[in-house]
Amino acid sequence: MGAFAAKLLNQDMTIERYACQFKSLEVEHVFLQSKFGQDKKIAQFLCCTIALVTALVTFFDKMIIQASFWPETALIGRAIMVSVCILSAFALNYIKSIQSFRLVISVFMLFLFLNMQFMAITYERFYILHMFFDVIILITFYFSTLVSIKLSVFLSISYSALAISVIYFSKEISNHSFYMVVLAHVAANLAGMIMAAHEHIIRRELFVRNTQLAQLAHEMKSQALKDALTQLPNRRAFDNAYEEYQRMVKQQQGESKQVCVILADIDYFKRVNDTHGHEVGDVVLQRFSAFLTDSLRSSDDVYRFGGEEFVIVLPLCSVSDATVIISTMIARMNSEMCEVGELSLAIRASFGLTVMKEEEQKSVISRADAALYQAKDAGRNQLVIKF
Ligand code: GH3
Ligand code: MG
Ligand code: MG
Repeated sequence: MGAFAAKLLNQDMTIERYACQFKSLEVEHVFLQSKFGQDKKIAQFLCCTIALVTALVTFFDKMIIQASFWPETALIGRAIMVSVCILSAFALNYIKSIQSFRLVISVFMLFLFLNMQFMAITYERFYILHMFFDVIILITFYFSTLVSIKLSVFLSISYSALAISVIYFSKEISNHSFYMVVLAHVAANLAGMIMAAHEHIIRRELFVRNTQLAQLAHEMKSQALKDALTQLPNRRAFDNAYEEYQRMVKQQQGESKQVCVILADIDYFKRVNDTHGHEVGDVVLQRFSAFLTDSLRSSDDVYRFGGEEFVIVLPLCSVSDATVIISTMIARMNSEMCEVGELSLAIRASFGLTVMKEEEQKSVISRADAALYQAKDAGRNQLVIKF
């Protein structure tokens, strides 16, 4: 997620407030994709709610309205509505792309709107209270943000025009009541648009914040596992990787593929600091780190364990191969000088090698430390192996 967030943050994440979407189409796509699963669930929930409300309204309508040609036409309309809602809720499970999702939602809303108005026509000529449902549906639709704001506005205004026309042409209604109907539709659309714009923008802002946070968390995590001076992974990184090394030990195939652990410590490093100053000491530590990394394979790991102490892990390596690697390293170290500005320093180090055992809890470091201690004791600048 961290790397993904970083890639996303390299793009322009500006939100076009007027269109209520990201300026960059790529970012917009990633955003839509991120809420796709949730949108599908919301759409399914809405389909089921509409099915339930339609079923309930059918029952109560019968008692309240007593339409003259009720129930045949209206009942068929309601039955179709409930079936389509339930079928759509199921069908949404199989929708995989955002485009087809938007198409299905648009077609479904179109059907819902037409069906609502078809049923409105079947009511008594003086009955216009169904308009409340129109208003609720409009606001819910705007609020859902299932489709882009442009499509919401287009579908909702078309619906209002249709609903107002149905009332105007098929109902007996006073001028005053008609104005109230128009006003209710205008208010519902305006309120819906404001709500939708707010919702669309706030969701995108949240997406930007979450992306920034994910990247920050990723950065902080990698910082926490890295040594600031040498840029090598630190002791905490070793602790994190320990389980993985243990897994390798468990799967090891014979003597040739062991996990060799080497503790390296610069000899008389304190003298470097005391003689040339701490800054020179720092540069020597950086050079020594680079030297270790350069001398190893890419599959090997080096950690700065603290001070001038380093842990080298050679996974899937035999002890004899590890001995060759470290001995070559010592030989190279003895043949090279470490240049720091005007200074030319002879840097030496001692190494303690051991093999990681199954199920051991970091005592591998104590064993490597004991080997290192022996190397120091025996005159430094050498490798000691301890099993
Ligand atoms: P030995 O051969 O026995 O290892 O002797 P040594 O002098 O290398 O070991 P000692 O433990 O006495 O000294 C280690 C020194 O490393 C002491 C400390 O000031 C220095 N040191 C630790 N971390 C840093 C660092 O980040 N920068 C610098 N410049 N010095 C450091
Ligand atoms: Mg030392
Ligand atoms: Mg030391």
